Amino acid sequence: MKILKTIEELQEVTSSNKTKTTGFVPTMGALHDGHISLIKQARNENEVVVVSIFVNPTQFLPGEDLDAYPRRDEADKKICEMCKVDYLFMPDISTMYTEEEVLIKAPNNSYVLEGKTRPGHFDGVLQVVLKLFNLVQPTRAYFGKKDAQQLTLIQQMVKNLFLPIEIVPCEIVREKDGLALSSRNVYLDETQRKDALLISKALYSAASLVGKSELKASALKEKMQEVMQTLDVEYIAVVDRNFNEIEKIELKNSIILVVARFGNTRLLDNIWL
Ligand code: AMP
Repeated sequence: MKILKTIEELQEVTSSNKTKTTGFVPTMGALHDGHISLIKQARNENEVVVVSIFVNPTQFLPGEDLDAYPRRDEADKKICEMCKVDYLFMPDISTMYTEEEVLIKAPNNSYVLEGKTRPGHFDGVLQVVLKLFNLVQPTRAYFGKKDAQQLTLIQQMVKNLFLPIEIVPCEIVREKDGLALSSRNVYLDETQRKDALLISKALYSAASLVGKSELKASALKEKMQEVMQTLDVEYIAVVDRNFNEIEKIELKNSIILVVARFGNTRLLDNIWL
């Protein structure tokens, strides 16, 4: 595995692999089994695999956890090596950004849910992902369904900007007890970690109601509120796959999303139905 730090190094790799299929997995590091599943899928489906690790400052709002975000470069390098990654791109901030930047504006439908709580967050996500896409020029890029709204906006960007890249949505990887893996789970203390289980429990209870033909969003939300009554729930949303709120589940076109707060930590989870 080659570790790349500069734009020139990455561009050289990109141009020498032009005739090969390239799978790309962008991450912010502190790699866990969720990231690993994306990397493994990329490894299975492509001749060349590029992973990036970059804690992107433009997607953090003032006062968020940019400085505290977990960084585990050495462990991450070993994980990538074990997953047979060909190239690991780990740029500095000054490599990715200059002082004057052309800004990318996420569409209006990004200003609901995560985009509403974190205004500007998705502008930063799209900005860095577009930069990375231009550098890596992947055949396929892999994103987790865990960040459902991010995945949808990236699919929309690729379509709107005619980028010749296939976006591959990947299933959510969970701990055995149901908690969705996240780099931010390390912020949880023992009690919070235990309480956080109620999030997936609430999602499963909604899915089980849907299995019993209860499709009304209000009934599903009510059940989920009940399961999570001891938590600080920021939102429960039932949306179609374009992120319009819906009153009734449309099977194979719906997502139920939850965000709950544990101190300063926000945990996101969702289920695609
Ligand atoms: P991050 O490092 O948090 O920016 O995540 C990098 C990629 O990994 C994104 O596409 C995430 O959606 C994905 N990801 C994070 N957690 C999980 C998970 N538990 N299961 C599947 N994919 C995940």
